[in-house]
Amino acid sequence: MTVQLAPEVRGLLLPGTLDWLDEPPLSPYIGGTWRTPRSDTVIDVVDPGTGQTLTTYAASSAEDVADAVAAARTAFDDGRWSELDPEAREERLRHLADLLEADAGTIAQVEALDTGKPLAEARLDIAEAVAVLRYYAGWATKAEGSVIPAPRCFLATATREPIGVCAAITPWNYPLPILMYKLAPALAFGNTFVAKPSEQTVLSTAYLTELCAAAGIPDGVVNVVPGAGATGAALAASPGIDKIAFTGSTRTGQAVMRAAAGTLTRVSLELGGKSPQLVFADADIPAAVDGVMAGIWTNTGQVCVAGSRLLVDRRLHDEFVTELLDRTRDLVIGHGLDPATTLGPLISRDQRDRVTALVERAAADGADVRTTAPAPGRDGYFVPPTVVTRVRPGQSIEREEVFGPVLTVLPFDDEDDAVRLANSSPYGLASAVWSTDASRVHRVSRRLRAGTVWVNTYGVFHPTLPFGGVKASGFGRELGSAAVEHYTELKTTVIGL
Ligand code: NAD
Repeated sequence: MTVQLAPEVRGLLLPGTLDWLDEPPLSPYIGGTWRTPRSDTVIDVVDPGTGQTLTTYAASSAEDVADAVAAARTAFDDGRWSELDPEAREERLRHLADLLEADAGTIAQVEALDTGKPLAEARLDIAEAVAVLRYYAGWATKAEGSVIPAPRCFLATATREPIGVCAAITPWNYPLPILMYKLAPALAFGNTFVAKPSEQTVLSTAYLTELCAAAGIPDGVVNVVPGAGATGAALAASPGIDKIAFTGSTRTGQAVMRAAAGTLTRVSLELGGKSPQLVFADADIPAAVDGVMAGIWTNTGQVCVAGSRLLVDRRLHDEFVTELLDRTRDLVIGHGLDPATTLGPLISRDQRDRVTALVERAAADGADVRTTAPAPGRDGYFVPPTVVTRVRPGQSIEREEVFGPVLTVLPFDDEDDAVRLANSSPYGLASAVWSTDASRVHRVSRRLRAGTVWVNTYGVFHPTLPFGGVKASGFGRELGSAAVEHYTELKTTVIGL
């Protein structure tokens, strides 16, 4: 496969980084082989830092999806994975984690090129995927059942069994970690798997697929169908899957849930967010500025938990915004592979245009829009970091998920006002409280309607911490022990004595 690279980008890649793309091709991976896709729909792989098409691939068709599901079903039913001893599954998953870690440098470069994110952030993605994999490898031997105190004339047990064929549809902002939140527990508990990565970021998933085979995970256990919405829709509606885990926008999540209703497939949904950061007058202000910066500029704001709504005590408002803008001037906007870059491009031209239009509309509606660093003069999908003050609650920029480097700021008068504004969003994914008053921290944390509340910190993810949303941010929790419920069934056995 020939990959086209802009000359300035070629110089930033370590030699050999893309050699692996000759083999495997970007195509459906079904039953242990890379198949020729049965579809004419061609999708571009684009470098968002230059706008250049790197290569193309054909989307997986509905027939490819059906074949992938059938391969996963066969692999499940014949027990080649589900009936392995749990220690053997653990060992192979640990082997996969070791292989991923050994190739982390290459995969991080591939991910920075494909997503546009700064290399340092791409490295963290790979480290997170490895940590999640190791954590769930350990769970293979720990999903215990129970003996139930039923009437004494019976011996009754409840044991954990794999569900069967699990499917995942994932977005482009964190391709490997978000896939791993689903793949690792599914495999640990003995399920087989079909993955549909985002059409915009297929490279790292293809790389991981090769490593699964090298780690001794049997053919047919992990299947991949690269493609866009039509491929995802075929997977969500497939009668052959037992569970579907979706991460993406609220709107697509609703479509997935509707499709899954037709086959009564179990669903978990990790959807969009518009997370508030509440800064009280008694906060440690330098720490709060750091937290707000991390919350909104990480991955150029393309983060489901982006702290995109700053709610700040009215008495602090002007001073806080000034400090934030000063600090934001230090960001270096550029290509993700450039080691100096701290703020990369957005994923696509469409996304850049959408974000820009939302900001322009806010300005036309009377908001005060301030940008700090100019976007570099090249063809990538860059948007400068933007702080929007004088917004009205409920205005589109304040209500809609922007998914870009755009922070809205609203002042509040007291604790009740802060909580009311925080909870006024249709979303409920994450939130943060910045305060040194321990009582306030507890009071406010209890009242926030969000899946996660961070206190005097932001964006902490760990394999042990359950993660998910409420309201329009979805339902179901990934990570931690919560995944046991998603990827196992309880079997009750009653023995007459
Ligand atoms: P998206 O909803 O457009 O796409 C997500 C995935 O769904 C992609 O793989 C896409 O191809 C697929 N898809 C599109 N149409 C489909 C259909 N009709 N049926 C089945 N699948 C379909 O989201 P995106 O733009 O890739 O990602 C950004 C969104 O993801 C944001 O809203 C963000 O908040 C959300 N997100 C949420 C979390 C979380 O954990 N809550 C994490 C990351 C991203």
